[in-house]
Amino acid sequence: MTGFFVRVARQWIAGEMLDDGIERAKKSNSKGILGLLNLLGEDIKSKTQVKDTVSEYSRLLERIAQSKVSSQISIKPTQLGLAFDPEYCLQNYQKIAEDSKSYSDNFLWVDMEGSPFTQKTIDLYKQILAKYPKTGIAIQAYLKRSERDLRELLPLGAKVRLVKGAYNEPAEIAMKTKKEISENYSKLTRILFEDPGRNFFAVATHDGKLVDVAKELSRDNANFEFEMLMGVRDRLKAELVQDKFQVREYIPYGPEWFAYSMRRLREKRSNILLLVRSLFSS
Ligand SMILES: Cc1cc2nc3c(=O)[nH]c(=O)nc-3n(C[C@H](O)[C@H](O)[C@H](O)COP(=O)(O)OP(=O)(O)OC[C@H]3O[C@@H](n4cnc5c(N)ncnc54)[C@H](O)[C@@H]3O)c2cc1C
Repeated sequence: MTGFFVRVARQWIAGEMLDDGIERAKKSNSKGILGLLNLLGEDIKSKTQVKDTVSEYSRLLERIAQSKVSSQISIKPTQLGLAFDPEYCLQNYQKIAEDSKSYSDNFLWVDMEGSPFTQKTIDLYKQILAKYPKTGIAIQAYLKRSERDLRELLPLGAKVRLVKGAYNEPAEIAMKTKKEISENYSKLTRILFEDPGRNFFAVATHDGKLVDVAKELSRDNANFEFEMLMGVRDRLKAELVQDKFQVREYIPYGPEWFAYSMRRLREKRSNILLLVRSLFSS
């Protein structure tokens, strides 16, 4: 079981070290795909660990700039202390955003976690965005509140990564069927494409039908990119690159990959669910 799992997990995770991430991003670049690096980890409870995480992201930004690899970074708020001190978390994002700006004027994404953190993450993002325009936030199409959030965020200049959502949320706040979620994803995609502010955004899905919706809408607005996870739908990525769309892949790395992924494998056996959950849920 373990050997099988290591092989499967290795498709999705670059390796344990920062340089594994950089090398994987270079490989993506060689295929015309941009990188989006993430240090695995979530729900960090001590300031010492958060401090180490902040230093690792600073080193990562420095290495991205030095190695001239084309990659952005994406960070979960609970990696930077959102669960125990939102103000401290904001300071950490601001420090990383400052580094991101000074190293090659890079772009920083804020991942979205489970619903206890939705409002806190949006509040956090608004404060980061006010000072650092080259930052973006993930918005989850399965949440009933997301259309409202999108309409509130776009006039502020928000850059949105639209995802379906990876956490197991209650029916009171989230759509539960694949059909409902896809319909809402299409609706939100349309709002992004038709937004008069023309803010940059990302369509982050492996769902071919939703990719087609975006391709169709992109006739009138090309200020967006497709984002997918490393190791998933590589053929579709290549086709999109061939068709001159901008494609980016999320490349996780870090020592925590094995523990995380093993935990997920015990919970769910379907590979795609395992992949997504190992990356985005606790
Ligand atoms: C770049 C990126 C960033 C993300 N960030 C976040 C985040 O911050 N917060 C969060 O909650 N979630 C995040 N997610 C995860 C997201 O919420 C979804 O859980 C995840 O992308 C799966 O949904 P899907 O849209 O790909 O559709 P799914 O319904 O999982 O898949 C749709 C269809 O895609 C096809 N497909 C999927 N995988 C394969 C495969 N391996 N081979 C062939 N066909 C396949 C199948 O036809 C499948 O039916 C992110 C996802 C991406 C890609």
